[in-house]
Order: sequence, then C-alpha cells, then structure tokens
Amino acid sequence: MTKESSKTDLKRSKNKATKKASKHSINNPAEKKQSLKNSSRVPSPPELPESIAQKEPSVTKAWWKNGISFQCQGSGKCCTSHGEFGFVYLTPKDRIRMARHLGMTPKAFEKNHCTRTNGFSHLIEDPKNPDCRFLVKKQCSIYEARPTQCRTWPFWPDTLTPKAWKRDVVEFCPGVNKGAKISAQQIKEQLDEQKASEDALDQEARNFILGK
Ligand code: SF4
Repeated sequence: MTKESSKTDLKRSKNKATKKASKHSINNPAEKKQSLKNSSRVPSPPELPESIAQKEPSVTKAWWKNGISFQCQGSGKCCTSHGEFGFVYLTPKDRIRMARHLGMTPKAFEKNHCTRTNGFSHLIEDPKNPDCRFLVKKQCSIYEARPTQCRTWPFWPDTLTPKAWKRDVVEFCPGVNKGAKISAQQIKEQLDEQKASEDALDQEARNFILGK
C-alpha cells in the first residue's frame, strides 16, 4: 500500500465514520437524551479567550513562534542614524504625546523638532551629528513618551524576516539574545502596533502631499 492510498483510505473511512455518527445521533432520540444527560454531569469548561498566538496562523508558523530573548542594553546604537533606518518617524499621536511630555503645544513641537520628507513627518536631524536629538549620554531623554518605532524596536515588519533579523538586528543590536524571552504573543502585539503606526504615517503623508 502506498502512502497516498493509505491516506485516501483513512480520509474515506473518517468521512464515513463522521456521516454515520451524525446520522445516528439525529435519528436516535434515546441516545441523544443520554448524551445530553452525560454532558450535563460533566460541566463543560468555560471558554477561555484564545491567545493571539494560538489563533493567528501567521504567528504559529513564524520563525519566532517560540519567542525571542531580547533586552535593551542601553547602547544607544538604535538612536543613532544609520542607513535606511535613519529617520525617527512620528505619527500624529507620537507628536501629541511627545509635545505633552515636553510641555509644548503640538504646533510648537512640530516647529521646533519635526520636518517632513516625501510627506512623512520625522524628527529633525543634525547633519553634523547622527545621534537623535533626544539622545543624552546614550539615554533617551523622553523615554516615557518616545515614538512608536522606538518602543516597538526590534519587532518591525521590516526586521522580522529571518534575513533582515540577522542583518539588521542580530549583527547590529547588542540586546538580541539577552534577558528574558519575549513571547510570540508579545512580539505579535509589537508588530501590530508598528504596522498600525506605519499605516498612520502612510495615510498622513498621502494627505499631506494631496494637500488635504
Ligand atoms: S526618541 Fe529616544 S528612543 Fe527614539 S531614537 Fe530618539 S533617543 Fe532613541
């Protein structure tokens, strides 16, 4: 017997068994009653909310499904402009939160700290100093109010592919494989937050360019 035919046979007999069982339970009220009786003796457990990791196939199949150890080592490396991750992009919510933290109006915050490239809002960079303007002695001076992309690093859609993870995170960030394990569910939450913020950035940039 080939593997394929044994698989087909198994499928067929499973289908038959299912049909038989359902037919039997519909047409046999005595048995149905008994089964209800049995089920009332053993109360079914309360339905527990499924974790994101359990119900999301994108998580259960992800290479990070068992979590990743990560703990910021305070190197400040991710707060220094480098190549394609140069800008610190800001969503409208980021700007409001940061302005409030600094005791400024959003308008004043934008005027003093923000600029736009292709419609995208980001922190102003100093061409002579690649450090983020809020980096002070390798520490974020607005840590509690830091932008979304700083909070979700390194769990970004762009970095969570095996290749990009190795190239852009493992070889660059000293926090990888340090500290406690970040669960798949926590990673998914960070990823979702980052995705939502990227959507907000796209939307705002589009509106800006269209003059809306
Ligand atoms: S805002 Fe803070 S966490 Fe983000 S890049 Fe600047 S110094 Fe780093």
